[in-house]
Amino acid sequence: MPDNIKQILLELQKKRDRAEQERNERVREIYNIIPRVREIDETIKNLGLQCTKSLLMTETSSHEEFVNALKEEISALREEKEQLLKKYRYSLTDFTVQYDCDACSDTGYVNGRQCKCLKQRLIDMAYRQSNLSGVLQRENFKTFDIERFSADKFGKYSKSPRDNMSEIVSVCEGFVHNFDKGTAKNLLFSGSTGLGKTFLCHCIAKELLDKGKTVIYLTAFGLFRILEQFRFNQSEASLSSEQLNAILTCDLLIIDDLGTELSNSFTLSELFNIINARLLENRKILISTNLNSEQIIETYGQRIFSRISSSFEALEFYGEDLRCK
Ligand SMILES: [Zn+2]
Repeated sequence: MPDNIKQILLELQKKRDRAEQERNERVREIYNIIPRVREIDETIKNLGLQCTKSLLMTETSSHEEFVNALKEEISALREEKEQLLKKYRYSLTDFTVQYDCDACSDTGYVNGRQCKCLKQRLIDMAYRQSNLSGVLQRENFKTFDIERFSADKFGKYSKSPRDNMSEIVSVCEGFVHNFDKGTAKNLLFSGSTGLGKTFLCHCIAKELLDKGKTVIYLTAFGLFRILEQFRFNQSEASLSSEQLNAILTCDLLIIDDLGTELSNSFTLSELFNIINARLLENRKILISTNLNSEQIIETYGQRIFSRISSSFEALEFYGEDLRCK
């Protein structure tokens, strides 16, 4: 088993232990405050045992009646317990262990296969994305402020930057909403810096991570550096081919700031391969760039440009640089 998985499973184990310990402490507290609840739990346990025993001894003619009576008694006790808890502002969920991931109960596996949460942890580790979670607390749809965009007409454009932005935001929300239906188009954000492109990339990343999707966020600079490293330095590369594979198979790949990196024929063909492979599998890509169409053709060539323009919805950001305000 690779070391990174081992390390994550160990962290998950600690997390589960902590969650179970917290659950036991809550139950102890409740038993102290409402002793009757402990009595009820013990009685239910005993009745359950009797129930099982009698199921093993099926000779008795009144067997079914007996079991039904037990079941009724148990459900009456449960009802009483629930009412008592309510009265003291507790609930039945206080008796269950609270895991971060409901799908795998923080074990990392569902039916022997890696859970989405484990996959995302591997991605975070491989791409040192964990710093992303801090950013996502600050930059998400809830903290997005449309008021920061001017309501006045801007340059040649018929719509104000604010109207344009609110259309872009609703396209992005639709992208998140329709993500599973496969109808969402890939997105291309274009426009100069300081207009909220990266912010919106973060908004989308957060929504999808919250939905349990795997997301890789990389600047074009970071992506190309990884590709170069992997090519020239394979034996010492910090990424395994499995991790590199995640770039092709994660639910959403975000490439931010395309156009700021130094490209060469190798990185260009790799970029084309990545885009192409993901499009063929209908896996979504979000690209943000400072370049306009002509500059994209100039920098990346007609082949990449055609691939992008035919399968991405282009959204143009314009207005005054927000960082100057
Ligand atoms: Zn999970």
